[in-house]
Amino acid sequence: MRDLSRYFDFNATTPMLEPAEKMWIEATRSLWHNPSSLYAEAGYAKQRLEDAREDLAEVLSIDEPERIVFTSGATEANNAVIRHFSETTEGRLAVSAIEHPCVEASSMKYFGPERLFIIPADPDTGVVDVDLLRKEVATGTVEAVSVMAANNETGTLQPWPEISTLCRENGIPFHCDAAQWVGKMPLEGLGKCNWLTASGHKFGGGKGVGFLLVPEEETGFHASVGGPQEDGRRAGTESVAAVIAMVEALEFVVDEWLSTSAEDGRNAFEDAVARSLDARVIGAGGSRLWNTSMILLPHGKNLKWLTRLGQRGFAVSTGSACSAGRGNPSKVMAAMGLDFDEMGRVLRLSGGWKTSVEDWLALAGALEEVSAELRG
Ligand code: PLP
Repeated sequence: MRDLSRYFDFNATTPMLEPAEKMWIEATRSLWHNPSSLYAEAGYAKQRLEDAREDLAEVLSIDEPERIVFTSGATEANNAVIRHFSETTEGRLAVSAIEHPCVEASSMKYFGPERLFIIPADPDTGVVDVDLLRKEVATGTVEAVSVMAANNETGTLQPWPEISTLCRENGIPFHCDAAQWVGKMPLEGLGKCNWLTASGHKFGGGKGVGFLLVPEEETGFHASVGGPQEDGRRAGTESVAAVIAMVEALEFVVDEWLSTSAEDGRNAFEDAVARSLDARVIGAGGSRLWNTSMILLPHGKNLKWLTRLGQRGFAVSTGSACSAGRGNPSKVMAAMGLDFDEMGRVLRLSGGWKTSVEDWLALAGALEEVSAELRG
């Protein structure tokens, strides 16, 4: 059993869950044939891949397993969708100011600044401004929309069901990057998004694997070309073992954990650091993922805190906030109203399903010690 009691970087990645690991080892050994080959063993590997697609469709409550394209993760899928939008529309893409860099950079690359409408987020709640999006959509110049489900830095939850409805009513394709949502939050309704991205390693499903939902009627989408795999929508030999393990992990999370509430630890942590450190929680005004806390430290550079916490066995993150106030200012942090100096004082703490209240309070205690140490 791994000891994850001091691991507070679950939003960066998670270890493979045991049932998934078991499936992965078994499938790596027994399903190594190329699913595109024509002999019986290959046919069996292909069958298992298609079984996994059907199982995943069931978990997501979608009637069309063929909407699922297995990918290498969220970055590949997000890039491919944004590129597809740029090739199939002439108007603008509306994209939120708090997207993961893989959406932000691909939007910039494939649309360019003049074809983008950046939807701002409220600095208190971290929620994107749907009214503004609605007004922009009413001008008729927005031809595609991309808004994430939950923010990877602050954990803020976005109104994707409302945006999905708005887009549907206006006949506009909607893409939702749900990499941080899937595995932490209920899956109901996600399948209604035309395009949806998720990543296996964010929920114990292993690295280098993810999935993308494409609209049922879509025929021209290609994440890559040069092979018939994934119904011609993503060329490249499939990793059957990785896909099977990922689906197993998601099924496990849904069956065992999703109906439980795990936010007590994170909330106790935030109460403790508010008292002892006077640390401000970013995005606290809105709903957030139950496992995430992004705090603005009262003094010192975040890298110093991270190093000293590391010496005590705690793994934490500065998120994409520029570490110690150096490097490029984080667009997400700027959208949350932080200035350059504040960006260098931010830490992101993200726990897992099994992180206990005691684990969170131990982290709060370590932060208090580090604060005293840094103050000298
Ligand atoms: N989108 C979000 C919201 C993420 O948090 C991440 C990973 O941090 C990604 C996309 C990229 O995912 P992957 O590592 O699967 O490429």
